[in-house]
Amino acid sequence: MENKQETGALTLEQIQNFEGKYPKQLWYLFFSEMWERFAFYGMRGMLTIFMVEKMLLSERDANLKYGGIQAFIYTMTFIGGLFADKILGFRKSIFWGGLMMIIGSFTLAFSPVDLYYIGISFTIVGTGFFKPNISTMVGNLYKDGDPRRDAGFGLFYSGINIGAFLGGLLCIRVANNVSWNAAFSLAGIGMVIGLVTFIFTRKSLGPIGFSPLEGKQPASKIKLYDLMVYGGSVLVMPFIYLLVSNTEYTDYFMYTVGPLALLYILYEMMKYNKVERQKLLAALVFIVFSIFFWAFFEQAGGSLSLFARYNLHDTVLGMHVDPNEVNNSSNSVFVILFSPLAGLLWMWMGKRKIEPNTLIKFGLGFLFVAVAFYVFYYTRFFADVSGKTSLDVFTLAYLIITIGELCLSPIGLSLMTTLAPKPLHGMMMGMWFLASAYGQYAAGILGAGMTTVNEKASLTEKLLSYTEGYKQLAIYALIAGVLLIVISPLVRKLMHDVK
Ligand code: GLN
Repeated sequence: MENKQETGALTLEQIQNFEGKYPKQLWYLFFSEMWERFAFYGMRGMLTIFMVEKMLLSERDANLKYGGIQAFIYTMTFIGGLFADKILGFRKSIFWGGLMMIIGSFTLAFSPVDLYYIGISFTIVGTGFFKPNISTMVGNLYKDGDPRRDAGFGLFYSGINIGAFLGGLLCIRVANNVSWNAAFSLAGIGMVIGLVTFIFTRKSLGPIGFSPLEGKQPASKIKLYDLMVYGGSVLVMPFIYLLVSNTEYTDYFMYTVGPLALLYILYEMMKYNKVERQKLLAALVFIVFSIFFWAFFEQAGGSLSLFARYNLHDTVLGMHVDPNEVNNSSNSVFVILFSPLAGLLWMWMGKRKIEPNTLIKFGLGFLFVAVAFYVFYYTRFFADVSGKTSLDVFTLAYLIITIGELCLSPIGLSLMTTLAPKPLHGMMMGMWFLASAYGQYAAGILGAGMTTVNEKASLTEKLLSYTEGYKQLAIYALIAGVLLIVISPLVRKLMHDVK
């Protein structure tokens, strides 16, 4: 960990005045985050199956616990962002988060069943410190108003998905073919590579990411505060352990954290002038809409995976593929393929002054999701008598949903770094991910509502029940998209100079 700015390091000006499409530092953050996501999605892909097969939980309990873990992880990003803003700065937060994630993975590797909840608790706290702060650092590579920012986040988003794709694919294969210990170790190794990449390249980041207390407080005091944060995050572990191991607490946790976070933001907003407050308000509008977006999108891990398991044929473009592999990985593959293209498209349109503004991009995100869910619904018309339907059409829906994601998710990251005043960057990025926590939570509830009441329902009944649910989601997404476009002039005003 480093505290002081090195002499001879690049200045912020030098970094932000880069030539070409992307700053070179973006690539370093890209690789660090890619490996972190490798570890994260590797582990995520193993959890439910591990809980069913090794911890002998029922499928229902495993699903609930999985949802709870996901919600806790994304909730912790708010805390991680907040402490980065106030005390640690982004660099030390990333270092600390990475370290906790490594400890978490290797704890699981050492004794997956006995130390399961301890390993998971470390992972939750670690991700909270790592995930929002590395995203915020990307934003800091750009000057205010630099039109290349969204494209930068687009590229960064590809890195996220390369990691997600490889981690999700490899860890479960190792678990199936070697052992669970080896699979969790693999996630840990990924995280080590991510952290080492960050440590070796951080010099190129000049002054970006140092503690906000640097230069304002004596070094000994900063050290003391740092230690308090590190110590506090270890002390909080038994509490996290308790929450994660008892799913019934998840609801209470979700009911309290969001409102408290919101109240805290409102309190922080008082310290700023009218323009800054309005921009923060605009950021909150985006955040609230994103909850709905993730609630639709995250059907992927729940209802869509069950739909894929029971109701789909196993060929895409004539090739034999496991429908669940398509469900789990096609989104990442499409992001990897299309995210850089979307970034280049925004830049190309920007040069010609025809780039849609952020609100329209968000609105489009919802409209694409609406079309995608309509296509999921439409699969029912391709079904055979046994209730199985076309994997080709299903994959097409994934392509469309991914285009929607690209209109919203990387742009949202980018927005948090433009709408929030600098001292609140980390917290607002954390808030952006907190919305994902609520989205995941709502996704579970929506998904559960789509299942057939009758456990012994035929495949055709299941197909009808799920696709009916997807039609409903298409309608909700359409309403959200139209609503966003309708209120866009109002929100546009709140955003002031941000496009
Ligand atoms: N898939 C993206 C990531 O892992 C977005 C996650 C989210 O915001 N829910 O970073």
